[in-house]
Amino acid sequence: MTEVTKSTAQGVFIDNQWIASKSGKTIDVVAPAEGVVFAEIAAGNAQDVDAAVAAARAALAGDWGRLSATERGRLLSKFGLKITEHAEELAQLESRDTGKPLTQARNDMVATARYFEFYGGAADKVHGDTIPFMPGYFVTTEHVPHGVTGHIIPWNYPAQMFGRTVGPALAMGNACVVKPAEDACLTPLRLAELAATVGFPKGAINIVPGLGEEAGDALANHPGIDFISFTGSPEVGTLIQTAAAKNHIGVTMELGGKSPHVVFADADIPAAAKVIATSMVQNSGQTCSAGSRVLIEASAFDAVVAALAEEFGKLTAGTPEMDGPLGPVINATQKKRIEGFFERAEASGVPVLAQGKVADGVPEGGFFVAPRIYGPVPRKNELATQEVFGPVLAVLRFEDEEDAVRLANDTDYGLMAAVWSLDGNRALRVSRQIRAGQVYINAFGAGGGIELPFGGMKKSGHGREKGFAALHDASTIRTTIFKHG
Ligand code: NAD
Repeated sequence: MTEVTKSTAQGVFIDNQWIASKSGKTIDVVAPAEGVVFAEIAAGNAQDVDAAVAAARAALAGDWGRLSATERGRLLSKFGLKITEHAEELAQLESRDTGKPLTQARNDMVATARYFEFYGGAADKVHGDTIPFMPGYFVTTEHVPHGVTGHIIPWNYPAQMFGRTVGPALAMGNACVVKPAEDACLTPLRLAELAATVGFPKGAINIVPGLGEEAGDALANHPGIDFISFTGSPEVGTLIQTAAAKNHIGVTMELGGKSPHVVFADADIPAAAKVIATSMVQNSGQTCSAGSRVLIEASAFDAVVAALAEEFGKLTAGTPEMDGPLGPVINATQKKRIEGFFERAEASGVPVLAQGKVADGVPEGGFFVAPRIYGPVPRKNELATQEVFGPVLAVLRFEDEEDAVRLANDTDYGLMAAVWSLDGNRALRVSRQIRAGQVYINAFGAGGGIELPFGGMKKSGHGREKGFAALHDASTIRTTIFKHG
């Protein structure tokens, strides 16, 4: 199967229309479940980025910049409804592009629509302060847009990432230039097109697909952008922050994770095991907020491992249409990278505790990986410290509360965590000592809800997305000092 969907190769989307990329080049889009090219996208270049930034700048001075917060909110809400109307089409596109099971792609579209619904409602509810100052003065603050915002997003949740970063930026009145990931970006391209149909003025949302080192680099270094929001790997995050430092602009960095589940002996073990297993393989483990380390109190180690092994034994990777708990990983490189972790773990004597399957009848060229649990993993082994971005759990043992906290904090990352214990006091006490942007107690949701501030501590990044916190990061403050005598 090698049909190419030409509609996805129309170019770059600037000023509400498709324009041929100045590069004249395209990038093949491979379906991860099949390993075949099924579409192509434009390979946007620096000139395309220039045009997109100029369009966004003009939008700020034009119709988009003149809208009130309420009017912006209405547009966002209408866009949310439009996404819901097109949810099935978008889910089909997303699952072919990323390989994710259809139910998951459908859930992702519900979340994508919800970003615009949430930020549509929030747009006119971000208020400033009045500040007591010297006699004869009246001082107020207001949240104003940064201006032109750049958004560089990854391939793992293309539609959701678009909603997560662009939703709050638009709500606050910024004009956006988006560089989606070359590995999966068909839904962001379609979303930009759908946004134009609900009435976003031209230049408010521009999207330049292309390679990271070309279009992404051009956007990150562009002197015409006022803020950049990046989600991706820590290595590229460093490049983006270096570029931002040269241009003296602010950034939001959503980077990787190695998030721990801390399981005490008094936890509801079957409930914990089910949540830990299913959330770990969501998106084939290619989720920054995956709970990929399970830290288990020594006295319950065997019981928790047995419960996890039972859950992992039920997991089968399959095609989007098989609609099981997980699909393939994104590409051949990622599959090889994950298998490299497996080989090195085994070479260093770390045992496989349980393994799922790849379904019979999946296409031979698909990038499928059977989920695995390794353990006990030595504390400094790469499986305990590095982000694998695949369907693999590392289990480790801890002795007591103090040891649990030390171990939970013993990586460079600090994105998410969960504490499992039916002793509420202990669960809360431990959770408050973990350096992570989101900590669940007796539950876990990779990434959490749209209402909940999300982001990293330590090398997982800085700045917050989701919730009202994202609106603050997507804007800056102007203080007006009025001397009235
Ligand atoms: P990546 O950093 O390679 O790519 C992310 C984006 O950056 C893509 O659009 C890519 O084209 C672009 N890019 C690549 N090189 C660039 C360059 N030199 N200049 C500018 N842009 C460039 O990451 P990835 O492999 O696509 O995604 C996986 C990583 O993303 C993982 O580390 C994961 O944890 C992280 N992630 C984090 C979150 C979060 O919210 N914290 C969410 C999803 C993914």
